[in-house]
Order: sequence, then C-alpha cells, then structure tokens
Amino acid sequence: MENIKKDIEELENKLKNYAYEYYTLDNPTISDYEYDVMYKRLLKYYDDYPELLSNNSITRQVGYSISKKFEKYTHQYSMYSLDNVFSIDELYEFDNRINKEVDNYSYVVEPKIDGLAISLTYENGKLITGATRGNGLVGEDVTNNVKTITDIPLVLSENIDITIRGEIYLKRSQFNKINDDLKANNQNTFVNARNAAAGTLRQLDSKVVAKRKLSAFFYNVANYQELNIRTHYDSLLYLKKLGFVVNDQIKQAKNINEISSIINDIENNRDINDYDIDGAVIKINQFDVQEKLGFTTKYPKFAIAYKFVAEQLETKLLDIEYTVGRTGKVTPNAILEPIFISGSTVSRATLHNYDFIKTLDIRLNDIVIIHKAGEIIPEVVSVVNEKRAIDSKKLEFIKECPICHAPLIKIDDSVDYYCSNKECPAIIVEGLVHFASRNAMNIVGVSISSIKEFYKLGWLKKFSDFYKLEDYKQDIINLKGYGEQSYLNIISSINNSKDVSLDRLLFGLGIRFLGAKSARLICKKFNDINEIINAKYDDFITINEIGDKIATSLIDYFSDKENIDEINKLILLGVNTKTNNINLTKDSYFANKNIVLTGTLEKYKRKELQSILESLNANVVSSVSKNTDIIIYGKEAGSKLSKGQQLNVYLMDENELLNILDKELE
Ligand code: NAD
Repeated sequence: MENIKKDIEELENKLKNYAYEYYTLDNPTISDYEYDVMYKRLLKYYDDYPELLSNNSITRQVGYSISKKFEKYTHQYSMYSLDNVFSIDELYEFDNRINKEVDNYSYVVEPKIDGLAISLTYENGKLITGATRGNGLVGEDVTNNVKTITDIPLVLSENIDITIRGEIYLKRSQFNKINDDLKANNQNTFVNARNAAAGTLRQLDSKVVAKRKLSAFFYNVANYQELNIRTHYDSLLYLKKLGFVVNDQIKQAKNINEISSIINDIENNRDINDYDIDGAVIKINQFDVQEKLGFTTKYPKFAIAYKFVAEQLETKLLDIEYTVGRTGKVTPNAILEPIFISGSTVSRATLHNYDFIKTLDIRLNDIVIIHKAGEIIPEVVSVVNEKRAIDSKKLEFIKECPICHAPLIKIDDSVDYYCSNKECPAIIVEGLVHFASRNAMNIVGVSISSIKEFYKLGWLKKFSDFYKLEDYKQDIINLKGYGEQSYLNIISSINNSKDVSLDRLLFGLGIRFLGAKSARLICKKFNDINEIINAKYDDFITINEIGDKIATSLIDYFSDKENIDEINKLILLGVNTKTNNINLTKDSYFANKNIVLTGTLEKYKRKELQSILESLNANVVSSVSKNTDIIIYGKEAGSKLSKGQQLNVYLMDENELLNILDKELE
C-alpha cells in the first residue's frame, strides 16, 4: 500500500506540474497523449483505491492555477471541463446512463475545437468583459485582448444582457505565419496552434494580440433561462442571429444511433478545415433535461467529448534495444512482434526515454497497444495489464553505454541519458555518418554500412580519414562486395566533397545545436573558417537567429585543440574552407511552401528531410489542408495522400524530390 501511495503522490505531482506548464505557462513539455496516458493511470488507482482520493487531487480540478498577470474575474456561471471517451461503445454506455435517469431527449453533435474556452458578458448589447476559464470559478480578465478579435462583436444587434461561451483558436494558416515570424526574430516558436492561441490571448500587450489575428467559435449561452431559450440548438441559432460565429458542422441527432455518422463526417473533414479539432462534443439538446442531470465537480453530466484516436492494435514487446546517437544520447527502442497497422508492418517503436517507460510501466514480454502517431510514426500507447505475466519485473534503465560500457550521465536538466565517453564507437560512427550525409559533405558514394566497416577495420576514425582512404586502395578493392568500380565511386564522391560550400562543412562537424540553416547564416558573416574559429561570442550572438545556446556551443567547440587540429588537417587535405557563393536559399524551390511528408522514403529519415527542407525555407506541417502546397510521399503513404488528391495538392514522389534537392543543395 505504501508503494501505491507513493506512486499516486508522484503522479499527482507530475500531472500538476505538466498542467501548470500547459495552462499557466502555455508551454507544455509533453504531448497531450502522454499526459492523457498518465492521467488515466491515476484515475485507475482511484477506481481501485477510492479512499486515497483527496479533494485537492488534479482529477477534481478544472484547469489549473491562473496567471497573476491579469486581474481575476469571478464567473457568474461556472465553467466546466468535459469528460471524454475514445470509442462509440463508450458513447452508448454514456447514453445508457442518461437513459436510466431521464427521457424525451435528443442530441446536438459539434466539432471539438482545439483552442481555449472564453466567456463573454454583454450588458445592454455592449461587450463588458472577456474572461478565460481559469479554474472554472475564477478566470483571468482578458477584456482588452478580446476586443481586438474581429470574430467578437463589440455591440450586438439587440440590447440584451447575455453571457456566452466559445472557443478562441488560431487558424492553421495564421499559426504557421506567427511561428515563421518568431523564428525570424530568433524567438521560441509555439508547439501547436492551441498553445499559440492560449499564449496569444494571455499576452499583456493587446497590440501583439491584434496582430496575431485570433479567431473564435461560439457554442453556449450561459443565461439561457433569462432569455427563455428552451434548447441548446435554439441557443446556437440565436447566437448566429446576434452576429457570433457558430461552427457550420454542428448537427442535431434524434438519438444515439444517429451520432456516429455525424462524428464520421466531422472526422473526415478534419484535414480540410483551416482549424484544429481534437474530437466531437455530444450534448443533450433540451435544457430542462440538462438541468435534471446536472454536474460533477469537474464535468457536466449531460455532455461528453469523443476524442479521435488512430487505429490501435495489440502486440508483444519482445525486447528493448538501446541505440546511441551522434550526441551520445541513448534511446530505448521497443522490439515488437511484427504487426500490420495503418498500412504497414511495424516491428519497432521508439520508447523515447526512461521517464516514458516508467510512466507507462512498460516491462519485457508485456502485451502493448500501439498506434501510429500522425499515421506515420509507430508509438506504444499503453500496456495491457490483464495480460501481464505474474512474475514480470519493473524495467530498470541501463547504467552503462550499450556499445562501449562507459557510465551513462545526464546533461543539464534533460530527461535523457548520454554516454560519457567521447571516444565511444557509436558516437564516432554516427558523427562520421553525419559528416558524409547529403546536406553536410554529401559523400553519398560511401554508404553507411561502408563507413561502419571502414571504421571497424581502423581506416576511418576522424573526418580527415575520408580524404586518406586512397592509402587503402588495394584493401578496399579486395573487400568482399567491393571491387575496382566501387572503389572509384567512393574516391570520386570523396573528391567532389572537397568543393562543397563551407556551411556544409561547418554543419558536418556536428557542433551541438548547430543546424544546417544556422551554419549558412554564420558563413554569410565570415570569409573563411579561420575567421569563424577566431570569432568571439558577441560576433555570433549578433547574427539574426543565432541564440545563446548555439553561440556558446561554437565557442566551446573551437576552444578544443583537438577540433582545431582536425580542421587544419582538412585544410591541408584540400577541403574548401572559404565562404564563397553562399546562397541563403531565399529563392529555393521549396521556399515559403507548406509541405506535408507522408509514407517512408528510402534515402531520408523524416527528421533529416524536414531539417533539409526547413534549411531551404520551407514550412513542414503535419496535416493536409487546402493551404498545403506539396505532399512528398514515399512507400505505404496513408490517408494524407488521398486527402491531398481530393484537394488537388501537388504530389511529389521521391525521385522528383531527389532531383530537385540535388540542384538546390549543389
Ligand atoms: P478538454 O479540452 O479535453 O475539453 C473541455 C474543453 O473543450 C472546454 O473547456 C472547451 O474549451 C473545449 N471545447 C471545444 N469545442 C467545444 C464545444 N463545441 N463545446 C464545448 N466545449 C468545447 O478538457 P480540458 O480540461 O480543457 O483539458 C484537458 C486536456 O488538456 C487533457 O486531456 C490533455 O489532452 C490536455 N492537457 C495537456 C497537458 C500537457 O502537458 N500536454 C497538460 C494538461 C492538459
């Protein structure tokens, strides 16, 4: 029991901290999905041990603490959260519960807009206050900000007193623009449109709010009784008449059986809308029935959110494989019994880090549920506890590097573990692979497996060793699977790389935090590598888009004598270190285009391609809408491709992509 109490306390603390980051700071550090998984684990504990549930549990609170930046506003009518379900079966259970208590009712089904709730009060038809939900009883007074939103009328067509509720959100197209501007000004970007909307509405400077162009949908009249409105649907019609924006996909359903096809339509339109939704909301239409059902401390009992989820299937976790990346970061990966899901066979999935494993309590040989996030990346959703072996043990994270056995360490306050050995073979090989990659030195003639083989044979340990491989001419020709022609291809590709532009070399060195785009910006300012080596912190920080992290990392890198020796070797071996012909790619083919990636490509991993496209000034976005310019698709592309076809988006296959990139990255 003591262990359970400890676990509950830990979950409560973690969830409260995440809720604070999400609601108060508008800066979540984990995904909603990870949060929901943790939250359900806590609910399960309280189902099993109700005596441990206290009044200050997060499961009894709406939202979280409110920011001190704004005046407090006490709601005359409380604001609530919504209970949620993830399947149609659960919706039937919801209806069964209602059916036992009341009769003569019907439903209204609405898209669940992914924004933040707002309450507006009008007196004599004039807007008096706008307030956030806060903890449901007290919110933040954001009236000045609300007045800048063009979807919100300042004066109504009727001189009435009315309190209404709706959702403030950012259009997807507007969200992309805001993030572009923030990036250009070297500021942190928003994680998603919901947080951008929340962060914007809770800005102190109303001018910034006006500039960011928030939007709003309205879905509730709080004082319907005073206004003699009998049904929820009538209240929506009235809101429309008063000049408020009401979502046009809202439909009435006579009974529970009519609901699923309306939800289907809402889900099918999901990618076409210029706004994010995360589900549908089902509400009883008749206000008198709503009143009979009432509220819990957190939710109305007459409404429920149906949240969208991707296809989910069970499979067995066979093993955990730890991989070490270029920076030394150790990532645990689930090795799964192969399973066909959302269009392709999946046999592994990332487990991110030890916190993720602990939260889901993943153990060897567990039956796990997986889905594909964004229909592309396989993820472990949860463990099927009922199918767990009785003798299964909690999983401990490894203490040593799986490759070189050096102790693992934590860097700064990151959740990840890193190998502490700079000479770790995995770090060296991944560094060499990065150096040779397409958007670095572009040594495509040397495959990843050749790099690994040459490293093992002791021919390739440092970047400069690429340019000395000719010393092993006969050995390479004699290697199994090589021969004269392979050798010539390798050497020609290496020789060509001597002429690539300096920004690619700088990026290829693998300096912490330095991406391809930042490397280009730095090379714009200096004439050659020696100027960069001798530059001061202030020379870097004054470059637009270069922040403290990158500037400090550059100074650290160039103050290490070993790194300078290696650069000098590259210079002697004839590698270009002058910044001639740097083109900032403003006019690249992909510049300012909204691009969606789908399916598996042969040459590129998604992240790698995304960083290349972004260095060419493209906006890589996750969902298809009418604002999408190009869909780049690979094997097993899913529904995004068909949606793109419907919307007449330009579809680009891998061959065409490679042809264009060859020219762009020349
Ligand atoms: P919710 O967002 O799941 O549902 C309630 C809200 O839905 C309402 O308050 C309203 O703002 C909104 N809504 C949208 N369309 C609506 C409509 N048509 N009718 C009525 N309401 C509508 O609940 P919540 O309590 O606001 O937030 C909880 C969720 O927030 C969690 O499930 C989680 O996904 C997320 N969260 C994430 C983190 C994180 O760290 N990532 C932290 C805390 C919460």
